Amino acid sequence: MIFFDIDTQYDFMNPQGALYVPRAEEIHRNIERLLDAARRHHLLTISSRCAHEPGDAEFAMFPPHCLKGTWGAQRIFDLPSLALVEVPSDAPAIDGAHLEPCTHYVVEKKVFDLFSNRWLEGLRASGEFRNRECIVFGVATDYCVRAAALGLAGGGARVKLVADAVRGVAEESTAEALDEMRAAGVELTTTDEVLNTLDTAASDSPSNETAGGDE
Ligand SMILES: [Zn+2]
Repeated sequence: MIFFDIDTQYDFMNPQGALYVPRAEEIHRNIERLLDAARRHHLLTISSRCAHEPGDAEFAMFPPHCLKGTWGAQRIFDLPSLALVEVPSDAPAIDGAHLEPCTHYVVEKKVFDLFSNRWLEGLRASGEFRNRECIVFGVATDYCVRAAALGLAGGGARVKLVADAVRGVAEESTAEALDEMRAAGVELTTTDEVLNTLDTAASDSPSNETAGGDE
């Protein structure tokens, strides 16, 4: 199981943020619960993060947000118990690269689609996500979350969207995005369901991939 924690940064998730997603604070608690489970079960987690510079092309579409080094660009939640790998937005694709277990990848991007990061796109194109269960949550359902879920589905992953841990910018585009994701084979789940599955798997088999073995 791989967690995809999408753009949980202050500019999107805090009412004072530059590109605040309405009611995003309502999902803080569930995202915290999911990331706490990632910590307890040593789950491979990929956090995408906008990392912009003034004048970036994306600012033709959205107001400036997540400028590098500012409060708004910071991630709200952290995973200090997992090995951290930071992947800059201009990282190249690497032939033969694989994801390591028990690792927290923070993947920077300058376009809302996280697969605009060539390193991550390289992994997707080489089949790294094929047949793997990918749990997607964060913001915004109608932009970055949609791009993550559809990109993973296109890469052959078994994608689950955590419906009570995502929020969209606008009602209509969010409903459209959900339809599009369902049509692509994305299943909807809930925070409770994900946590129950992890806890059950851990108690059934302490040596399986979701349990690190030292707790
Ligand atoms: Zn951005």
